[in-house]
Amino acid sequence: MKVLITGGAGFIGSYLAEKYLELGNEVYIIDDLSTGTLENIKHLQEIQRYKERLFVTVDTILNHETMIELIGTCDIVIHMAAAVGVQYILDNPLSSIITNIQGTEKVLELCNKFKKKVLIASTSEVYGKHTHAPLIETDNIIYGPPTKFRWSYAAAKLMDEFTALAYCRTKKLPTIIVRLFNTVGPRQTGRYGMVIPRFVQQAMRNEPITVYGDGDQTRTFTYVGDVVEAIVKLMECKQAVGEVLNIGGTEEVSIKHLAEKIKELAFSKSKIKFISYDEVYTKDFEDMQRRVPSIEKIKHLTGWKPTSSLEHIIKSVIEYSRANK
Ligand code: UDP
Repeated sequence: MKVLITGGAGFIGSYLAEKYLELGNEVYIIDDLSTGTLENIKHLQEIQRYKERLFVTVDTILNHETMIELIGTCDIVIHMAAAVGVQYILDNPLSSIITNIQGTEKVLELCNKFKKKVLIASTSEVYGKHTHAPLIETDNIIYGPPTKFRWSYAAAKLMDEFTALAYCRTKKLPTIIVRLFNTVGPRQTGRYGMVIPRFVQQAMRNEPITVYGDGDQTRTFTYVGDVVEAIVKLMECKQAVGEVLNIGGTEEVSIKHLAEKIKELAFSKSKIKFISYDEVYTKDFEDMQRRVPSIEKIKHLTGWKPTSSLEHIIKSVIEYSRANK
């Protein structure tokens, strides 16, 4: 099978590429290297049996001609390309909206033209400002005002979900939508805001671990290998077509506790430093207090559940950082 992975040089995309190569497929990647990097897939290009089945195009998904060629060639499409990371979205508000809305529209339009099955990567951000748990795919959605730019990411991804569902309903395009909850693992960079790689870097340098706000906000983290397993299973699951599904971990942790745990596991001398949101972000920012998925739906359809504990996730990131110091 020929698999197109948009954003395949990104953090999650590169693991997906490896998995589909391992399964014997031809893998086509398109990535504009805005947040992705060729370093993420270098190891794949160095393995002979993968190299001959891996095709990389450095370009934007907004390029119509390139996308016609790629989507026309491939059997299935996994759309991971997006502007991601709270810091990145706040720093690049306009281009992020364009990539996340127009880019997905382009992918869906061409998947429909060639009738190719497509999975759209959405995000737990879509749920917005809930404090209840767990979040269920049918829950209502609550955002802040448009002056708080963080919500532009959630709203753009929500529009992607509407567009994908509309293609599915009106054109019978086989689409699957996944909402990813804080995916983590080796190779993720902390440059665009992601908390675990940032805390691990700080802990390893014995620098202050920077907890934003009071640190009582919670998250559930998902190991990238578990996310890849879930996506591969869903692509093979007929009942997943036309559905929105959460993919996430189940261990809820406060950011304050996360900082303590990382400090302990890294044998770090770092102090934990609390920083107010105003100091870190502009007034355009608003945090989400709680984010825990219900994974009943995906479990019911595919039998998938996460296998990596938070401790395992943190240790894998520490190990990677040590090896790549
Ligand atoms: N966070 C933090 N310190 C950092 C980076 C992030 O305390 O150096 C917090 C952030 O405010 C949020 C949580 O960690 O409450 C998760 O942040 P991340 O950007 O990784 O993901 P998201 O906010 O999208 O869940």
